[in-house]
Amino acid sequence: MEMRVSMLALPDNSFEDRSSVALLIDDSAAMQKLLSLRLRNDGLDVISAMSGEEGVRAAQEHLPSVILLDLGMPGMDGFEVLRTLKDNEATLHIPVIMLSGVHNSHDKVTAFDLGAVDFITKPFDVTELRVRVRSALRVSYLMQMLSQRAQIDGLTGLYNRAHFDHRWAEEVAAVHRHKRPLTIAMLDLDHFKSVNDTFGHPAGDAVIQGLARIIRRECRQTDVACRYGGEEVVLIMPETVPADAAAVCERIRIALADVVWPKHPERSVTCSIGVVGTEGTATAEPLAWLELADKNLYRAKREGRNRAVTSALENGIKLAQVG
Ligand code: GH3
Ligand code: MG
Ligand code: MG
Repeated sequence: MEMRVSMLALPDNSFEDRSSVALLIDDSAAMQKLLSLRLRNDGLDVISAMSGEEGVRAAQEHLPSVILLDLGMPGMDGFEVLRTLKDNEATLHIPVIMLSGVHNSHDKVTAFDLGAVDFITKPFDVTELRVRVRSALRVSYLMQMLSQRAQIDGLTGLYNRAHFDHRWAEEVAAVHRHKRPLTIAMLDLDHFKSVNDTFGHPAGDAVIQGLARIIRRECRQTDVACRYGGEEVVLIMPETVPADAAAVCERIRIALADVVWPKHPERSVTCSIGVVGTEGTATAEPLAWLELADKNLYRAKREGRNRAVTSALENGIKLAQVG
């Protein structure tokens, strides 16, 4: 799933309050009719596919919350469909419940080995099927929530370092492939040790949270903000040329400097920012980008703090010679 903005929108309500989509892959019209009626009564949106091939296409297009998959179908059978779904990154995590008219423990073992979450033998009790669908949805929702939370920083709600590491590699690879603009900014709070020392750690934490709030407010839906270290945040700005990214950073810098902090109204807090980007014509390894951003950040600190230093990757070599 594509997670958005700097902060994840984790649903607070239970999964039962959200509308879930079930995909029914079964060549029997009677079974389609029975199941779709029952599942719709249960508040699920239902999509029907009458063959394995159609089912795979529908799964990829609609990314349903759960799939009910008949094993015995002409053409592509249930096992083949299951293999195809599990081979594809987009459909890999969708829970699949197998349906079969045959009592055969070998088939059951194969289905579970291939990644099915449940196996139901026809004819089945409709109430039991309904409960099993609910259970599959609940487990899948919890897994999704856990994997999202594992990528979120607890203090700020921004993505954490673990998320950044793989996300950054992906973004750089995409830029290499498609020659698109990309900019990254590295932000570091100025003299932050002294904020902690003077006003205490909780006050320092509030400042880090305040910075995160400002970044969320100022950046775009497609930007990715991550807490990189203690008082450092990186902001990935896809499809953004360095000049535009510099303008975003300038807004963040000014907004932070203007905050009057409840715990220390007499003391403002500033940040320094190192920015590196490309208009799409230059490439570098993920780590090289970060080294250049860090170099710019260091230069911003040296030149007096509370400022951003921006450069284009196209001038990366020149930049490397500075400082
Ligand atoms: P500079 O302007 O050069 O960046 O100075 P600085 O004092 O910010 O730099 P330094 O890296 O020496 O200090 C960073 C401080 O950030 C030290 C550490 O105690 C503090 N810090 C790191 N993580 C947290 C956190 O989660 N909460 C709080 N309150 N402080 C933190
Ligand atoms: Mg630091
Ligand atoms: Mg600092």
